[in-house]
Amino acid sequence: MNTEVSKPSGSARSNIQWPAGKLCAAMITVDMDGESGILFSNPEAADHLDVMAQMAYGERTGVPRLLRIFKQRGIRATFFIPGFVADRWPDAVREVVDAGHEVAHHGYLHEYLTQVPGDAAEEQILMRGIDALERLTKKRPLGYRAPGFKMRHSTPALLAKHGFLYDSSLQDTDIPYHLLVDGEAGARSIIEIPVQWQLDDWLYYMALPSLKPGIALRDPKEVVNIWADEAQALKAEGGVFNLTLHPFCSGRAARAQGIDDLIGRLMDSDEVWLTTGTELAEHVQSQPLQPFFHRPVALNESGATRQDG
Ligand SMILES: [Zn+2]
Repeated sequence: MNTEVSKPSGSARSNIQWPAGKLCAAMITVDMDGESGILFSNPEAADHLDVMAQMAYGERTGVPRLLRIFKQRGIRATFFIPGFVADRWPDAVREVVDAGHEVAHHGYLHEYLTQVPGDAAEEQILMRGIDALERLTKKRPLGYRAPGFKMRHSTPALLAKHGFLYDSSLQDTDIPYHLLVDGEAGARSIIEIPVQWQLDDWLYYMALPSLKPGIALRDPKEVVNIWADEAQALKAEGGVFNLTLHPFCSGRAARAQGIDDLIGRLMDSDEVWLTTGTELAEHVQSQPLQPFFHRPVALNESGATRQDG
């Protein structure tokens, strides 16, 4: 029996050299989920006009409002878009592309990969999402975010196989890093741009009482202050401020004003590099950082964790 306890090496300290004069990076990301997330977890909601309309607020109202704010501020964001949304809301996605924002992959029907039955099914979903985005944008996506931030150990290798430059779903650091896709010598890597729940608007704003218990409705000013404090602290740490917005949450009027205010605060500092996923990943990829592999945890007979292999 192998009783060695898993000891992954590689503490997360920022050895990243940010572009000249910059102390940290920041990304505004928009998970443009439309109806897809609800339809994956609650397919019966397809018959509920009220629920479908609430989710469509994102594409009909929230996205145009956020695009207007981004344009006024002169910034580019990264939109993670499920293939289903590209197929159902092509004009909304075209507006995102035409405004110069990055389009990245977010599943097909916002599938939680931890509920997908195996590697073949996961790869099929990945390819279906790539096809839908490529058909519309004429560009292959380079970035990926796992729906619900739910990821399997097999996912990074699949992403590398299909030419992805980066993922943005994991929460083990607040500094981007080179993520090895397996534990073999000479393994390929992709760039991981970490996320965190604290910087995800869903937990503060999502209210769908007819389907999901628990209503989270917070004062946008309070939420923006939490985010601004985290941005300030991450600047001191040399990390990445990676904000996750959903248009049916943060596209609402007062919340969108809060986003505008937050972007203004980020831009007030010349030391913050506000950029897109691909630009950030390319920058990190060019640096000789120690890569990291998430060695799967295995349970031995006594229930203790041990290093697998
Ligand atoms: Zn999503």
